[in-house]
Amino acid sequence: MAKNFVRAIFPGSFDPVTNGHLDVIHRAVPLFDELVVAVVHNSHKNQLFSPKERVDMIAELIADTPNVSVESFDGLTVEYAKKRQANVILRGLRSLTDVQYEFQLAMTNRAVASIETVFIMTSERYGFTSSTLIREIASLGGDLSNLIPQNVQAQLRGRFGD
Ligand code: ADP
Repeated sequence: MAKNFVRAIFPGSFDPVTNGHLDVIHRAVPLFDELVVAVVHNSHKNQLFSPKERVDMIAELIADTPNVSVESFDGLTVEYAKKRQANVILRGLRSLTDVQYEFQLAMTNRAVASIETVFIMTSERYGFTSSTLIREIASLGGDLSNLIPQNVQAQLRGRFGD
């Protein structure tokens, strides 16, 4: 049976991108023909970085990774997936607590748009890393060098000072 071209989108807030997100991206690269990291414009969440700043940080980090790109989108993930002709939504899992919410989201997306979600478990090293905690720790001046890439550290220092 001929295999279809598989384009996956990896939607999320990425405010900011962490080593956990990057770990999922690198694990996903060999599995799909194309991967689009998709930064959502979520006006209801407390944002630290603008969508453009978030996209730019990710773009620097994936510049040398083949078949991966980054862009931002507005509105429903399933509508964006349809527009981009993606066959898969990629999501990362850290823990069992993620599973409950992600399961519900994936079932809903399949029910409304017949799109499959593929989950990748992060390295245990990043199982406790969340963008929310990164923002909090950065605002208090903590050392995040093991959890986020250098360009993100520099941007956070720019926001919060040393
Ligand atoms: P969202 O607001 O959509 O949850 P996030 O940027 O917080 O956006 O997360 C995007 C995706 O990456 C989600 O599937 C989330 O579970 C996953 N993710 C977040 N942090 C990590 C991590 N440390 N390791 C693996 N996956 C993660």
